[in-house]
Amino acid sequence: MISLLRDSAAHVFVDSIDAPTLSEGDAHHLLRVLRVKSRDSISISDGKGKWCAGVIDSDAVVEVTSEVFVVPAPKWALTVAFSVVKGDRPEWTVQKLTELGIDEIVLLAPTSRSVVRWDAGRANKNLERLRLVAREASMQSRRVWLPKIDSGVALTQLSAAFIADPNGVALDASHRTLAIGPEGGFADEELNAGQGLVSLGETVLRAETAAISAAVLMSNYRIKGS
Ligand code: SAM
Repeated sequence: MISLLRDSAAHVFVDSIDAPTLSEGDAHHLLRVLRVKSRDSISISDGKGKWCAGVIDSDAVVEVTSEVFVVPAPKWALTVAFSVVKGDRPEWTVQKLTELGIDEIVLLAPTSRSVVRWDAGRANKNLERLRLVAREASMQSRRVWLPKIDSGVALTQLSAAFIADPNGVALDASHRTLAIGPEGGFADEELNAGQGLVSLGETVLRAETAAISAAVLMSNYRIKGS
């Protein structure tokens, strides 16, 4: 069953797995960008754990060719929160965190040393764009559970969050929500706002490297189950 998913020519999300139809954008992406051919095997998911195999014809009409498989939600959810940094790094970070299987990706509201601050208009536009990036990365990585993406969340709202800091304890399976600071780091009161400090190693990582590193380590503990 899993090879049907991993080896499909393309993976796509639909609103209803029982009556799957492709959006105009997805149809264009599959036929013109990925050049999926009529009768190539594709996989189709509702982004909420259900998926099936199918084929499309040259008009992107979907024919389902398998039963509907149901994948349970991961045994525990993983959240990575990070401060907005410069340039296209937030997009890049969301893409990689999605590929790595993070369930909730949170862009923090500015902290005291944040350099980048989005105004409300820009924040909404950027959030829309980041959700699209996550959807595309989910297609590429064959996820059947779409990640949740939020922005403008204050550090204090993340009650379960541990704070990433080189002076913390080594990350283990109990750390399932981790907050990464901005270029200038977290201020002292922010370091004390979470459940404790968690280290990702002795070197000082750039914010985006810290986010990816956290995701790799956290998902490794989840794969191992403890
Ligand atoms: N000069 C800043 C400082 O001293 O905090 C460096 C900030 S670093 C570029 C950005 C963020 O990445 C930090 O706030 C922290 O959350 C995270 N980070 C970087 N290296 C880390 C490490 N070795 N362990 C845990 N978190 C780290």
